Amino acid sequence: MLDREFFLGFIKIHILHHASKGPIFGAEIAGELGRHGYHLGPGTLYPTLHRLEKEGYLEQRPAVVEGRARKYYVITNRGLEVLSEARAKIGELVDEVLEKGAATQMEGEE
Ligand SMILES: [Zn+2]
Repeated sequence: MLDREFFLGFIKIHILHHASKGPIFGAEIAGELGRHGYHLGPGTLYPTLHRLEKEGYLEQRPAVVEGRARKYYVITNRGLEVLSEARAKIGELVDEVLEKGAATQMEGEE
């Protein structure tokens, strides 16, 4: 079982990433996260979406789909900014944690 707090950052970045491609909604993003092995219940997913909205990274766009109300979320400019910062940091983290080019880096540090 994944530690929820530890992976919440990954999940938030993942949500912002998909929101940057187009509007998202809860069930869709739950399916997408599940595909990546993050199985979130509604008790985690919806508070996370609300938090991203409260922090100004997502905005709600309610719509009616086949006669039913659905809450879509779209990314804000602030969300795009934080996502681009996160991308740079993820790149660094991946290189270091997966030890890509680790030998070169260590030589450079000496
Ligand atoms: Zn994905």
